[in-house]
Amino acid sequence: MADNIDRANEITEQLKERQIKAARENTSLAKATGYCLNCSEKLNDSRRWCDPNCRDDWEKLGIR
Ligand SMILES: [Zn+2]
Repeated sequence: MADNIDRANEITEQLKERQIKAARENTSLAKATGYCLNCSEKLNDSRRWCDPNCRDDWEKLGIR
């Protein structure tokens, strides 16, 4: 029985770590679409926002 509990704790810890990691990497999950993710301005490269202000706005809005 003790082994099962240890295993469950281990899995819980792993899930927690993964969630924290995912939260930290949230902005990196955003895919470049060719348009600013905040204001939809057309971009000619692989940037995801036209400028840092748009990135900040987007992060504040929490759109994922
Ligand atoms: Zn923009």
